[in-house]
Amino acid sequence: MPQKHLVHLGWLLAADTDKQSVVSVSETASERLEETLAQQFPHFHWRVDFVHRHRYAPKGSLSPLPLLELGVQEKIANHWDYVVVVVPNELLARERVHTIGVPSSALETAVLSTANLSRHDPARQMEQLMMLTLHLLGHVWGIEHCDEGPMIPPEAPQKLCYEPFPPFQQNIIVDRLEEVADQRLEEQTRQWNSAVFYWRAFWADPKSILIDIVGYAPWLLPFRMARLTAATAVSLLILLLTAEAWEMGVNLSPSRLVLGTVVAIIVATGFIFAGKNLGQISREVGWREQLTRTRLVVVGTILSGMISLWLVLFLFSLLVGWLLPEAILSRWVQINDLDRLMLFRHAAFMAMLGVLAGALGGNLEEDGAIKARLFFDEET
Ligand SMILES: [Zn+2]
Repeated sequence: MPQKHLVHLGWLLAADTDKQSVVSVSETASERLEETLAQQFPHFHWRVDFVHRHRYAPKGSLSPLPLLELGVQEKIANHWDYVVVVVPNELLARERVHTIGVPSSALETAVLSTANLSRHDPARQMEQLMMLTLHLLGHVWGIEHCDEGPMIPPEAPQKLCYEPFPPFQQNIIVDRLEEVADQRLEEQTRQWNSAVFYWRAFWADPKSILIDIVGYAPWLLPFRMARLTAATAVSLLILLLTAEAWEMGVNLSPSRLVLGTVVAIIVATGFIFAGKNLGQISREVGWREQLTRTRLVVVGTILSGMISLWLVLFLFSLLVGWLLPEAILSRWVQINDLDRLMLFRHAAFMAMLGVLAGALGGNLEEDGAIKARLFFDEET
C-alpha cells in the first residue's frame, strides 16, 4: 500500500483572551476537525495544529481581510497547507448584510466567526462550528454549493446539523488534494521555470483573464487610492515649480521618455505586487492553474492601474504647465522661443517620476475593495 499523503491544517485562534469558554472550545474543535476529516477522507493522513495568538480584542467587529493576511503569514511560517482563522468577534461584511465566515481559495485560508453560534449548548455549538468549518474548507478546496451535506448555504447557523460531504463531493475533494500533494512532490524533484509557466497559463485562456481584469475597473485605481494619488500630485507640484526639473524634462529625448515610462510602470507594478501580501497568494506550493490565473489577474490589474496613474499625472502636469506664464517657463528652461509641444515631454517626465514615487510610497492597503474581490470566494 502506498504511503498516505499528509494534509496539514492550522487552526488559528486570533483572540486576545484566556477565557476558557473561548480557548477550550477552539482547541476541542481543532481536534474534532482532525477526527472528522480522517473519517471522511481516510485516503490521507490528517493533522490539525491548534495555535492561539493574542491578536485581536474579542470585542467589536473585525474586517476579514487582515485576518486572512494573518492566516497566510502563519500558514507560511508553520508550513501548513490550509488554515482556518477563528475569532469570537462578528465579521464586517462588504457585500452582504451579515457574514459568519469568509473562505479564500486563492489564499488557501478561511476566516470564521463564532459570534452567531449557540452559546449555551456546547454540544450544539461544536456541531455548528464543525459544519461551518467544513463549509468554508469546501470552498477553499473548490467545491460548489449543493443541497446536501456541508455545502448547503448556512443561512441560519443555529440550524446547522452535522452531515458528511456527499460521495460525489468527496471524490472532487480527494482529487483536488491528491493533485496538490502530487504537485508538491513534483516540485521537490523538478524546478519549474516559472516564467514559462506563467506564459502558458496566460495563453491557456487569455480572454477570460482579460475579462476579469476589466471587471476590476483598474482605470479607477488612481481614484480609489485617492490618498496615494493626492500625495504623489503634491510632491509633483513641488517639482513642477522647480526650474531644474523643467530644464531636464524638456530636454529628454522621446525615446528615453518612452523607455523610462515603461520601466517605471513595470517597476511600480512589481513593487506593489511584491510589497504587500498580494504576491503570497498561496506559497510556491502548487502551480495550480487557478492560483496562477489569480496572480496573473492581480498583476494585470495593478499594471493597468499604474498606466492610468501615469495618465492622470501626465494630464495634471500638462495642466500646470499650461497655467504657468510663458515668460517664466522660458527663463526656467532657458529657451527663448518655447515650443508648447515641449510641455508634453515634460509632463511625461513628471508622470514617470510620479508613478515611481507613488509605488515606493503607497500600496494597495487603502484599497481593500479590490483585494476583497480578488480573494474572497464569498461571504458565508
Ligand atoms: Zn458557501
